[in-house]
Amino acid sequence: MRVVFVGTSDAFGAGGRRQSAIYVETRDGAVLLDCAPTTASGLEALGLERDAIDVIALSHFHADHFAGVPQLVLAATWVDRRRRPLVVAGPVGVEARVRALAEAMGHGFSARPPPFELRFVELPPDRTVDCGPVRLTAFPVHHQPDVCPHGLRLEAAGTRIAYSGDTGWFDGLPQRLAGADLAICECTFWAPDFEYHLDYATLSERAHQLGAGRLVLTHLGAEMARRRGQLPIETADDGMVIEV
Ligand SMILES: [Zn+2]
Ligand SMILES: [Zn+2]
Repeated sequence: MRVVFVGTSDAFGAGGRRQSAIYVETRDGAVLLDCAPTTASGLEALGLERDAIDVIALSHFHADHFAGVPQLVLAATWVDRRRRPLVVAGPVGVEARVRALAEAMGHGFSARPPPFELRFVELPPDRTVDCGPVRLTAFPVHHQPDVCPHGLRLEAAGTRIAYSGDTGWFDGLPQRLAGADLAICECTFWAPDFEYHLDYATLSERAHQLGAGRLVLTHLGAEMARRRGQLPIETADDGMVIEV
């Protein structure tokens, strides 16, 4: 599996970087974990084909994680001339949320349906769902409840990735990331700041509890962006590639 970090900033593009999106290429297809407003330009910059994406899997309904979907569908329609299906998977209610967003952004799917099959797949918590080239399992996390916050576990051909989505610390987090070949965990802040996001102080204190093969921190706020690459725990950066 090849993992490309398309965007690794917090919601606000700290350090001039892009918001959350991770491109996962498997033997049988590609999955995009989260899709931010900056994702389309990130894919372009990194030479990643939109048309190669089989599944967009969303962790929750904050703009920096899902507001890029309508633009991607629009580009698939008018630029890529896509013909094969595109799956948008996410927490329960994903279809209504994405449709309402597309409508609000002026590119609603109802007035002008995409010329390819746009399929929505709900990921109820703790249920593993076959989704194109991968198996996805969503798990609840500690983040603003009104945006259906989840982390995602992704598995293909025996390789496992765990992604925290946005979350503050909760006791079940280590177990949710355990056993993954690659655990991607958010770390917005350097020191404790806000209950719904993680910080480096908390994570480094509890790193021994996180029994994953390789731990990489993402969703980096300003202070974390400044310190990235210089910390004992590995940090992601835009364009970073990991072979798992
Ligand atoms: Zn976020
Ligand atoms: Zn969020």
